[in-house]
Amino acid sequence: MAVVSLLPQVEAFLARQHGHFIDGKAVAGSGARIAVVNPATGAPIASIADATSEEVDAAVASSRRAFHGAWAKTTPAERGNFLLRLADLFSQNREELAQIETSQSGKIIQISRAFEVDQAVNFLRYYAGAATRINGETITPSLPSFNGERYSAFTRREPVGVVVGIVPWNFSIMIAVWKFASALATGCTSIIKASEFTPLTMLRIAELATEAGLPDGVLNVVCGGGDAGRQLIAHSGTNKVSFTGSVPTGIAVGRSAMEAKLTRATLELGGKNSVGFLPDVDADTAVAGILEAGFVHQGQVCAAGERFFIHRSRIDETLEKLSQALATLKIGDPMDEETQFGPLSNQAHFDKINQFFRQARSEGDEVVYGGESLEGPGYFVKPTVIRVTDAGASLLNEETFGPVATFYAYDDEEELLRLFNDTPYGLSASLWTSDLSKALNYVPRIEAGTVWVNMHTFLDPAVPFGGAKASGIGREFGSAFINDYTELKSVIIRH
Ligand code: NAD
Repeated sequence: MAVVSLLPQVEAFLARQHGHFIDGKAVAGSGARIAVVNPATGAPIASIADATSEEVDAAVASSRRAFHGAWAKTTPAERGNFLLRLADLFSQNREELAQIETSQSGKIIQISRAFEVDQAVNFLRYYAGAATRINGETITPSLPSFNGERYSAFTRREPVGVVVGIVPWNFSIMIAVWKFASALATGCTSIIKASEFTPLTMLRIAELATEAGLPDGVLNVVCGGGDAGRQLIAHSGTNKVSFTGSVPTGIAVGRSAMEAKLTRATLELGGKNSVGFLPDVDADTAVAGILEAGFVHQGQVCAAGERFFIHRSRIDETLEKLSQALATLKIGDPMDEETQFGPLSNQAHFDKINQFFRQARSEGDEVVYGGESLEGPGYFVKPTVIRVTDAGASLLNEETFGPVATFYAYDDEEELLRLFNDTPYGLSASLWTSDLSKALNYVPRIEAGTVWVNMHTFLDPAVPFGGAKASGIGREFGSAFINDYTELKSVIIRH
């Protein structure tokens, strides 16, 4: 175990002039340059170009050609095989992709390898299999015939068209894979609008896709900020947007999509996810659960827990043990294989989290652990534990999207249920207890797209994922994604 040195091919990749990937080729881009910064040092490591309207037009034209041309001619099995070949190339280039990701996002290298690459491979393989299982149904029409004629009916699942995938900065590979693999499996073509903070991995993945034999234009990558996303949604040549990001941006995206002639929209948004421990859970088990729920990738996980509810009889001991555990976390260089906790992913987010620390103090919350940034370069903060005594406290209700776990003591189990649901959001929740019968009584009453029991942030490609309430519209994974990437066509035949 050691500090990882960048592979020569990663250094060469970072040194290139990056822009977009359109119609099978890397394009330098003629728009304003946007620096890509290593959050562990604060130093620029590369730059990309903000998309111009000509580049957006070129990407959309290329995607439409591929949708009606080469991609339309492929069979479901061929589309699945393409995704399998890409999965193999991910594995063969695992270290290169992981190092690019850690360099641009500050994700610790072990998580870049295990989640961004290996988990993305699992998703690619899952979607490859799904490509051959996208079917309509046969239906017996219900109305009587008047003159002895008969009717037969069936439905077809047809690809919705050119799908724009808009991706946040926290999982630049995995979330992009969710979007383009869904699109490709259903026969759509995909344009990924990478995050301006973490655009580099997708540019390399598009090259791997070409190496895997994907026809030009089936997967394009457009870089830039929110305006590039807006242009893609508003473009008459795109048919759907699949967005993952914050709630306010998601609302703006949904509005733009509706205004652009009802462009289809799937919105995977943020939230303020609840984690509740019943009194039977001892402090050591709770601490392990809190670390799993709240601190992976410095809390920058959409499904991470941020609202923690612990029974009053257990909370003091649990917070004491949690503080001890956090004090042993090795914070530092994300390229060091022994590091357990890296920097926040960008300056804006670092500023936002520091503002939450100030807010907690100014509102009289108890900062049990952390609540400060670290001296030196890079966007490092301490993992933080806040205790509030008012269920209306800001820190218990506003998404921080960082390593800020806020705790509240509850007294009875009906109160716990109210606390779970007393939020406008509903992406995920977890309940911890060894009493399975109690857990199963809670599950239907918790308002969230995913409820985990005795675990947190476990995403499986076979299990649908998405937000209830203000955490989104639509579902990814499972077979649920098929609804969102296809149009259902009904066919009725008189005979
Ligand atoms: P963000 O909403 O700021 O940006 C997301 C993406 O949208 C970026 O690519 C950005 O350039 C683009 N964008 C910005 N304005 C746009 C506009 N008007 N039109 C079109 N595109 C626009 O989110 P972020 O800061 O990158 O990511 C953090 C947020 O994402 C958190 O709120 C987190 O909870 C959420 N998130 C949700 C999930 C999920 O699956 N539900 C997963 C990861 C992150």
